[in-house]
Amino acid sequence: MPLETRPAAATPLLQVRDMAVDFRTLEGPVHAVEGVDLEIAPGETVAIVGESGSGKSTTAMAIIGLLPGNGKIVRGSVTLDGQELVGAAEPAMRKIRGRMIGLVPQDPMSNLNPVSKIGTQVAETLLAHGLATRKDVDRKVVETLAAAGLPDAAERAKQYPHEFSGGMRQRALIAIGLACNPRLLIADEPTSALDVTVQKTILDQLGRMTTDTGTSVLLITHDLGLAAERAARVIVMHRGRIVEQGPARQILEDPQHAYTQSLVKAAP
Ligand code: ADP
Ligand code: MG
Repeated sequence: MPLETRPAAATPLLQVRDMAVDFRTLEGPVHAVEGVDLEIAPGETVAIVGESGSGKSTTAMAIIGLLPGNGKIVRGSVTLDGQELVGAAEPAMRKIRGRMIGLVPQDPMSNLNPVSKIGTQVAETLLAHGLATRKDVDRKVVETLAAAGLPDAAERAKQYPHEFSGGMRQRALIAIGLACNPRLLIADEPTSALDVTVQKTILDQLGRMTTDTGTSVLLITHDLGLAAERAARVIVMHRGRIVEQGPARQILEDPQHAYTQSLVKAAP
């Protein structure tokens, strides 16, 4: 046997192996996601691309332990920094969400409380995770919002979600997602509802913040061009399965699967 001469790959921060997720419905089980294998190295940005309904959000929510009540991981494993998360008790998962994984959820309006000031919502996150004390929380809220590029953060903190533009709401959610200095940030279509220029400034800001801290990012989008621009590696999902994954350039220039080929052809 030849000696292994290649250096060992960096130990992945996140490792998903053969994961399957089912949803219980009145019509019987929906096999939303099957056979998902993926890895993210420390500091790496990886994108999941696929059309609506392909299983992107289900994959993300399964990793972070936030599947809705009718959803369940029925097979496979998810390890974060060597710790198995499938079957972990909820208090342990809550701790992991507080310290290790941040989430920028898909729908800003349903994930911000409409009757609570933005600053209050950031303060709750900081206090819940022990990242601020009652004494310094107001200052830390403003710092957190300003770090996500929200202008006039001190004034804005006193406003309600409906007083924010879509772009500002998304910045507030990014601030909340990154507030606990997570090792991994999962951003589910963080800019899909925004126009292209706002999208660019927000993704630039997100990129700067996560590069500075060495945070790994799982970026979910239906936009292949955006995925290839922002992530070193792209994972393509179709009908609940990963059909292809590889370096962004390779996916764009030499797609192997028929579905990826159709995506590349359709990209502007
Ligand atoms: P994507 O994020 O790529 O648009 P989703 O992960 O939201 O896709 O959905 C994947 C599949 O799982 C779809 O067929 C969707 O209908 C189904 N699904 C998602 N959430 C639920 C749910 N709560 N109950 C039943 N089926 C669901
Ligand atoms: Mg989705």
